[in-house]
Amino acid sequence: MRIDLHSHSTCSDGKLSPADLVARAVEKEVDVLALTDHDTIDGIVLAQKAIHENNLPLFLVPGVEISCTWDAIEVHVVGLDIDTQNEALTALLARQEQARTERGVELGRRLEKNRIPGCYEGALALAGDGMLTRAHFARYLVEQNHCKTMQNAFDRYLARGARAYVPHNWASIDEVVSVIHAAGGKAVLAHPQRYQLSAKWLKRLLVLFKEAGGDAIEVSLCQQSPQERSTLGQYCRDYGLMASVGSDFHVPLSWVELGKNLWLPKDVDPVWHAFSAFPDVPNGEEL
Ligand code: AMP
Ligand code: MN
Ligand code: MN
Ligand code: MN
Repeated sequence: MRIDLHSHSTCSDGKLSPADLVARAVEKEVDVLALTDHDTIDGIVLAQKAIHENNLPLFLVPGVEISCTWDAIEVHVVGLDIDTQNEALTALLARQEQARTERGVELGRRLEKNRIPGCYEGALALAGDGMLTRAHFARYLVEQNHCKTMQNAFDRYLARGARAYVPHNWASIDEVVSVIHAAGGKAVLAHPQRYQLSAKWLKRLLVLFKEAGGDAIEVSLCQQSPQERSTLGQYCRDYGLMASVGSDFHVPLSWVELGKNLWLPKDVDPVWHAFSAFPDVPNGEEL
């Protein structure tokens, strides 16, 4: 059984529509997929509709990836198995959207000071109906030949410490975890090794996440050394957290693909064991 609990669509900074995303998941033999767009749940109904209309053999887990502010650091918390109708959740996401708009306007201003005009409007056009993210700014900077690659756009202008960086103002980890719980979901600390924290600070984050009521951490990603995976598995055991798996798929790439290389070390509790619903596992082989 293939399980992938972290993916993006055009409803945020992914390249595939929710319908194309679920079709690709089936192509890649994924059995269970969570759609977890940045600060929006708009794609879920569209993904569900595509599954239903095309009778796809795919179980969709409703999800969201919420940006949190932890001092200067941006931490991503994935909510899984959420009730998308929950009012506390929709209110929080509306606030995050507002913060994204304000940040986008300021980012545009700062880029203009760097003699790059029109970026806010350009990024907004690329985002279309989807949630505006820095990835749209990066794509615009590349399209307009201001930067060679997305990575280059982040390094020069968009990443923390770069020329146009705007300090973030997202919800706190505490609030995000409690809203995910209010919506009946499980709170998962996304990609723990992407925050560029030393082991000491990552452990502080894990303590704080656990104290906030956090349920799980992402242990398995597509691109990862065996050492990284086993360290994260050990953190699950040390801090009493369950384990999740997710490609963080945005766009077809050879090294990041839906369902690719996702498996858990032994002796960790899979977060899906705590979901309100999950398909039967035919031969007992979960991953
Ligand atoms: P935001 O949530 O608006 O700050 O946008 C963050 C998104 O930008 C992440 O989810 C990634 O998809 C993308 N991103 C962040 N850093 C980089 C990078 N260095 N290169 C390419 N994409 C990045
Ligand atoms: Mn993203
Ligand atoms: Mn993320
Ligand atoms: Mn993500």
